[in-house]
Amino acid sequence: MEDCIFCKIIAGEIPSTKVWEDDNFFAFKDINPVAPVHVLVIPKKHIQSIADLTPDDVAVAGKMLYAIQKVAQVMGLDKDGFRVVFNTGEKAGQTVHHMHAHILGGKEMAWPGV
Ligand code: IMP
Repeated sequence: MEDCIFCKIIAGEIPSTKVWEDDNFFAFKDINPVAPVHVLVIPKKHIQSIADLTPDDVAVAGKMLYAIQKVAQVMGLDKDGFRVVFNTGEKAGQTVHHMHAHILGGKEMAWPGV
């Protein structure tokens, strides 16, 4: 989608530090990390947020969880644990309106963290 920074990252028009990719998803390091490991996983299809999913997106949404597992393995987080965050909408602090999962790890994390 025009004017979407994450679509431009997928297209290679904006540089990123890629950590993993397959036919449907792209994963790269967050430019402003809040944990020792902070990676974003995005679908290559432009979907604005979880709140915007349609029935046509159900397959890609399900595959996204499996992509998150793969990225966690690549980043060496699968043994010690990791957190997955989908900020969705204004009050949750979503700033980029292309659905993305934050994968956070490499440190002890408290819960609740809101
Ligand atoms: P949100 O606040 O959940 O929408 O998360 C958006 C995330 O995208 C933030 O953590 C930003 O640091 C990250 N981000 C924004 N632009 C870039 C970029 O060009 N490269 C990598 N991460 C980015």
